[in-house]
Amino acid sequence: MAKTKYVYSFGNMQADGNASMKDLLGGKGANLAEMNLFGIPGPPGFTITTEVCTLYNQKGKDYAISLIKDEVESAVQKVEKIMGTKFGDSQNPCLLSVRSGSRASMPGMMDTVLNLGLNDEAVAGIARKTGNERFAWDSYRRFVQMFGDVVLGMKPTSKEDHDPFEEIIDQMKEEKGVMLDTELTTDDLKEMVQRFKQAVKKVTGKDFPVDPWEQLWGSVMAVFDSWMNERAVYYRKLNKIPEEWGTAVNVQAMVFGNMGNNSGTGVAFTRDAATGEDIFNGEYLLNAQGEDVVAGIRTPQEITLEGSRRWAKLQNITEEERASKYPSLEEAMPEIYHELNTLQQKMEDHYRDMQDLEFTIQEGKLWILQTRNGKRTGAAMVRIAMEMLEQGILSKDEALMRIDPNRLDELLHPVFDNEALANAKVMAKGLPASPGAATGQVVFHADEAEAWAAQGKKIILVRVETSPEDLKGMNVAEGILTARGGMTSHAAVVARGMGKCCVSGAGTIKVNYKARTLEMGGKMFKEGDFISLNGSKGEVYEGRIPTKDPELSGDFGKLMELADKRAKMKVRTNADTPHDAEVARDFGAQGIGLCRTEHMFFGGDKIIAMREMILADDETGRRKALEKLLPIQREDFEGIFEAMQDLPVTVRLLDPPLHEFVPHDDKGQNEMAKVMGVPVEKIKAKIEELHEFNPMLGHRGCRLGNTYPEITETQARAIIEAALNLKAKGIKAIPEIMIPLTGTLEEMRMQEKIVRDTAETVFAERNDKIDYLVGTMIEVPRAAITADDIAKSAEFFSFGTNDLTQMTFGYSRDDAGKFLEVYKEKGILKHDPFEVLDQQGVGKLVKMAVKKGRKTRKNIKLGICGEHGGEPSSVMFCHEAGLHYVSCSPYRVPIARLAAAQAVAEKKLAKKSRKAKKSKK
Ligand code: PEP
Ligand code: MG
Repeated sequence: MAKTKYVYSFGNMQADGNASMKDLLGGKGANLAEMNLFGIPGPPGFTITTEVCTLYNQKGKDYAISLIKDEVESAVQKVEKIMGTKFGDSQNPCLLSVRSGSRASMPGMMDTVLNLGLNDEAVAGIARKTGNERFAWDSYRRFVQMFGDVVLGMKPTSKEDHDPFEEIIDQMKEEKGVMLDTELTTDDLKEMVQRFKQAVKKVTGKDFPVDPWEQLWGSVMAVFDSWMNERAVYYRKLNKIPEEWGTAVNVQAMVFGNMGNNSGTGVAFTRDAATGEDIFNGEYLLNAQGEDVVAGIRTPQEITLEGSRRWAKLQNITEEERASKYPSLEEAMPEIYHELNTLQQKMEDHYRDMQDLEFTIQEGKLWILQTRNGKRTGAAMVRIAMEMLEQGILSKDEALMRIDPNRLDELLHPVFDNEALANAKVMAKGLPASPGAATGQVVFHADEAEAWAAQGKKIILVRVETSPEDLKGMNVAEGILTARGGMTSHAAVVARGMGKCCVSGAGTIKVNYKARTLEMGGKMFKEGDFISLNGSKGEVYEGRIPTKDPELSGDFGKLMELADKRAKMKVRTNADTPHDAEVARDFGAQGIGLCRTEHMFFGGDKIIAMREMILADDETGRRKALEKLLPIQREDFEGIFEAMQDLPVTVRLLDPPLHEFVPHDDKGQNEMAKVMGVPVEKIKAKIEELHEFNPMLGHRGCRLGNTYPEITETQARAIIEAALNLKAKGIKAIPEIMIPLTGTLEEMRMQEKIVRDTAETVFAERNDKIDYLVGTMIEVPRAAITADDIAKSAEFFSFGTNDLTQMTFGYSRDDAGKFLEVYKEKGILKHDPFEVLDQQGVGKLVKMAVKKGRKTRKNIKLGICGEHGGEPSSVMFCHEAGLHYVSCSPYRVPIARLAAAQAVAEKKLAKKSRKAKKSKK
C-alpha cells in the first residue's frame, strides 16, 4: 500500500497539491498550491494536511511528529533551495511563517507565528544580509513575543490581565521617553529581546528555545491546538463548521515588508467588499509587516488613486495634503501597482469570484502571500453575482448559487429614514466599513454587550479597535464603532461577514474603557446613551434615528426575478394580519400558507368575547359569545383576503388549547366575572378545569372543533361570508380552509362536513358562491402514516413541521431549548431540528405522506408551513420531496424564493458537470 502523504510542497510555480484538495490542505493550502500552478508569485512553502490535525487530536504530539518528520525535513530543504537560504543558519537564515488554514475561512480565529527561525545568531545573519540591524532586531522581538504568546501560552486569558510583553514594551517606552515603537533604537530592541526572554523564563521556567527545529515543531503543534481554542470553537458553532474538519498548517518562507521604503505590505479586494462595485481597491503601508495593516495601529493608505481620492473626501483632506502625505500605491510605486493590478485581474479571472488578497513588497519585489474568495456584505454578494452574470463570467445557475440565501436578510432590513437622517447631528466620521443602519445604546465591553442584549436591549459596541475576543459582543450588537482601523481591520472584516453595520477608524472619537465614556463632537456619551451609525456613509449620529423599509429593486430585484424563473416551488407566507400580508406580498409572496386565526383574538374586545366563549357553561352560552366573534372574524378575514386578492389564502381553524386564552391574573378574572355576570369563584373554577398536564398533546387542534362544532361552524361562516362580501366588491378571495392537528380520517371527515354544510348554508342565504378548498395540516405522525386515508377527505396537505418535529422526536417545543444546546455541543444533534428540518426522520414522514396522499388523490395540493419553510436547506428538501409550495414568515420570503431556485440550479449544475466529466473521459 502506498504511504500516505501528509506534507504537500509548493513554490516556484510548481505544487504537489491543487485547488480541488481543500478538504486535505484547507482553503489556504489548496489556494497556495493552485496559485503556483497558474503563475502567481508567492513565497515557497508546504502544507501539513488536516488529517494530521485529526491524528494529533486523537493520538498526541509525539505520534504526529513521528508521522511527518521526514516529509517536513525534505519540504524545508525545498524551500531553502528556492529562497537560497538555510533554516537555522547564522549567515543566511531561512525564516518561516506558520499559519493555520481550515476548509472554511475563519479569519483571526486561530494562531499564527511569524519570523520563525530567528535566534541570537540568525538575527545577526539577517542584520548583515540586509544591512539593516534595526529591522533584524525588530523582527526578532516580534517573533519572541508571538512565540511566547502563541506557543508558550503567555497570552492573557482575562480582560483584566495584560500581555507580559506589551507591559515590557510600555515600560521601555516610558523609560526611554518615547511614544511610538518606531522611536526605539536598535539597542533598545536588543534590550527588549533580553527582557522578553527573561519574562519567558519567569513564566514558563524554561529558556526561550533557540533551536529553529524546536521552534518549528512547537509552532506547528500550537496551530493544531488553536483549532480547539475557545474563540475558534465559538466561531465554528456560529458558522456551523464541523469540528472533525480540523485545520491544516501552512509553513512558508517569510518575505518582509519592513525592509525600508521600497518595501511594504497590503490587503486588496478585486471588487468592493462593502458595495460590490467592480473596482479594484485595498490598502497598503510602506515599510510595515502584514499585521500592521489589519491591527489598525497605523492608518493604511489606499492602493488606487481613485480610492485614495474617495478616502480623502470622506476624511475632509485636501488633494494637496492627500498627495503629499497619503499617496496611493499607484502614485508611490507605479510599476509594482501595475504588476499587482494585472495579477489581481488574473486571480479574479481564474477563480471567477471576488478575491481578497494579501501582498508584500520586499525591496521592490512583489510577492502575493495569499488570495481567497473575499468576504462581503449581503448587498455586495448580490451585486457581484448579478454583475458577473451580466459580464458573462457566470451562468444563471452559477450566479444563483453564489448567493447565501440567509445573507439576503441583510438587504431586507430597514435603513435610516432619509428625512430623519437629514436632521441628524453628525458627531464623528469614520470609514464606511460595513453598510446598513443601526441605532442602540453604547456599550464598551463584549461581555457586557452580551449581558445587555440578553435583557433585550439594542446596543452599539464601541471599541478603540476590535479583536477576535470581541466576537461574541459583536454578534449581539446592532452595530460596531471603532476609533482605529481601516477598511480591512478586524472590525470591518468581521462586521461585513456578519452583515452588521460598522463604522471603523473614527479617529476623532475618544473611548475611555475605565470611565465607560465616549467623547465625540465635543460631547460626552456615557454607557447606555443612544447613538446611531450609518455604515454606508461612515457617520456617527447622536441619539435614536428612525428607520424605514429598504428598497427592493436593482440587483436584488434582478436576482429575485431570476430565482422565480428557475424555481419550481411557489413561496407563500405565514401571516395573520393585513399588514404582514402586504409586507410579504412586497417581498414576493404568492399567497398565504398559514393564517393562524388564534392570533386574531388578542387585543381589545376580541379577547373578551373569546373568553366569554371559552368560559361559557354550555353550547347555548358558547353560541352567544360566538355570535359576537363572528363579525370580528369576518372583518379580519376581509382585510387579509383583500391584501392577498387573487392569491390563495390558507386559513387554519382554531388550534391552541383554550386555557391559553383565559385570564390567569386576578384583574382579568374579575373583569370576566363582571362581563359575564357570575361570581369570580366560578371563573376561577372553570379556569382550573381547563388546566392540562400536557397541553401540547391535549385539548387542541381539531379536537376543539370536534368537541365544540359550533367553533368550526362560526369560523367557516366568517371565512365564506368574508369571501362573498369581497366578491360583491369585485375582489377575488381564494380561501383554503385548513383543519389543524388531524390524526384520523374520522376527525378530518367530521370537520370537513361542518365546513361544507356551513358553506352550503351561507351560499343558499346569499344566493351566491365561491370556490374554496378544505384540507388539513399534517403535523401528527399518525396523519403522515395514514395520509392515504386522510387524503380521502383532505384536498390539500400542509406539513406543520413544528408539531411534526415535536411529536416525531418527542421533544417539547417549549422545553427543548434546555437540552438542545447541550445536544449540539456534544454532537448528538448537528442542528436544532426545530430550525433545520430533520431529513432522516421527520423528512421521511413528509415523503411518505406525499406518496400516500398522491396515491389517493393524484392532484392533492402540497405545502409546508412550519418554521422550516424559510430555512434554505429545508426548502431545498421540500423541492426534492415534491411539494408545490413552502410558506414562511414575511422577511424570509425572498430567502425561500432563492433557496427554491437553488434547488433547481444545483441539480442543473451537477448534471452539467457530470456531462462535462463524461465527455472528458
Ligand atoms: C406547525 O406545527 O408546524 C405549525 C405551523 O403550526 P403551529 O406552529 O401553529 O403549531
Ligand atoms: Mg402546529
